Amino acid sequence: MQYSYSRLSTFEQCPFKYKLKYIDNIDPIIKDTIETFLGSIVHQTLEQLYKTLLTGYIIFLDNLLTFFYHKWYEQWDDEILIVKKKYSMQHYQSRGKQFITDYYNQYTPFNKTKTISVEDRISFSLDDEKNYQMQGYIDRLDESKSGHYEIHDYKTGSKLPSQNQLDKDRQLAIYALGVKHKYPDANDIELVWHFLKFNKELRSKRSDQQLSTLSSQLISSIDTIENTKKYPRTPSLLCHWCRYKPICPQYSHLYQIREHRENRYHKRTGKQLVDRYIMIKKQTNQQNLDSFLELEQLKKDILDYAKREQLDVIYGTHSKILIVKKKQGSTEDKETQKEILLIDD
Ligand code: SF4
Repeated sequence: MQYSYSRLSTFEQCPFKYKLKYIDNIDPIIKDTIETFLGSIVHQTLEQLYKTLLTGYIIFLDNLLTFFYHKWYEQWDDEILIVKKKYSMQHYQSRGKQFITDYYNQYTPFNKTKTISVEDRISFSLDDEKNYQMQGYIDRLDESKSGHYEIHDYKTGSKLPSQNQLDKDRQLAIYALGVKHKYPDANDIELVWHFLKFNKELRSKRSDQQLSTLSSQLISSIDTIENTKKYPRTPSLLCHWCRYKPICPQYSHLYQIREHRENRYHKRTGKQLVDRYIMIKKQTNQQNLDSFLELEQLKKDILDYAKREQLDVIYGTHSKILIVKKKQGSTEDKETQKEILLIDD
């Protein structure tokens, strides 16, 4: 079994999610979140930049941005989840454009270091018996002018960690273990993060002792996972971005309710509901039970639709329906109101 930083982190974040993803091998229900989509397109764009550099050429910024937009639209899917509803897809797209532009302007002509590889897969054992296997992908591996290795990682998130947090960060330290296995001359390795939103580069290092301690901790974490029999759900703020949320018992009821409601509304658009209602109303001179029941259902669906969309007029192809509140029957102390549908041709 091969472990990775993200596999270990998933278990620590929520064992139930870990089970769905790595044991039951269930594909995520939510196709993607906008944050991971943005991260992926930005990574692909910077990968393209450095792959071109590896061939001895510099790609112009305009061409790089064209590549970014091309990848964006090629891979965009309306199902991608935007958790922060106040932002649109265009907001994230322009954020990505800014990340690429700032990065490009800061590092051009890209000659401070020599790139060794991009999106390099590392795979190594934590023990001599090869019982504990790790793998990962390094965004970019460079060699500095002074001859030491640099592991570069691009971050598209909105948080800038402290130096103290980075000095304890596990992801790039795991990659450092991998680089040491892959490149025997890699004695001196620097960890470099590019926090693109802040156009900031932060660095850290790990001693051999720290890497050896990390290796033991990873072995212990893997042992914990392999001996686990229970996978409890661990709700947290991160659930908002969890791609298994629709099938997580913690939240699935929300999706069932919404799905049921949306199915009712979205089976037909407002226009379709109006067209159908008017057609039956006009064609059925003598109402039979079926048409009566369908009209009643349509009436209800139109009222639900109007309420949800906050409309008092819904347009069909040739006519519209007005939602009118009408006083109805009065008792001694109160009157009631009923919403009725008026066809306006
Ligand atoms: S929604 Fe939350 S509790 Fe459920 S699987 Fe995802 S992370 Fe775990």
